Amino acid sequence: MYKKFVIALIGAPASGKGYIAMCLKNELKEKYGFNESDIAALSVGEMIRREKKNQTPLGLKLAANMKEGGLAPDEMVNDMLVNELKTINAKVLILDGYPRTVCQVREFDKLMSNFDSAVIFRDTPKELILERVKNRRICEKCGKAHDVGDGVCECGGRLVKRRDDRVLPERLAEYEEMTKPAVVELKNEGKNFFWYEGTAEGCDIAREFLASNKKYL
Ligand SMILES: [Zn+2]
Repeated sequence: MYKKFVIALIGAPASGKGYIAMCLKNELKEKYGFNESDIAALSVGEMIRREKKNQTPLGLKLAANMKEGGLAPDEMVNDMLVNELKTINAKVLILDGYPRTVCQVREFDKLMSNFDSAVIFRDTPKELILERVKNRRICEKCGKAHDVGDGVCECGGRLVKRRDDRVLPERLAEYEEMTKPAVVELKNEGKNFFWYEGTAEGCDIAREFLASNKKYL
């Protein structure tokens, strides 16, 4: 009986985790013969935003307990994940943005006792992240992404910073304080921990990582 394989993707905010997730998906399909339904990708940040937007009981609780750009309380994130894991039937689960505190690392170990798992950590310097998002804008009117700094979209809409980017300095500070120790803990456990440099290309990371974890696929 095979086990589900969980890939935990961690790194600083705006370090391109979503892009790596996309590369992992493509590589799994193209090279390892997985179907779309074999792969699930779960972004913890998105899950939280969804709960808040739909104003579920958990969403309301989260909204009351988070400051803008801040991390959600561990207990709520853990509960949300436990519930979500029960509903997933895919063979590979890409978990974007978890675990990101020391408390979540401990919960992660417990959660993963029934799965095969590995961690991808992208180690991106703060300066590089700030440089990357410096000119990132989104059209206020049509939502199109631009990379030209302040200006006006083809549709006439004003280009503004993404909400996430506006609070990026705070998110990076929180990352340093809360997530860095969690990364150290994960690394010290010496389990399936894969470290990649921030400058490494996302799809190269995906390719290399999957080749090293063939036995789980
Ligand atoms: Zn526009």
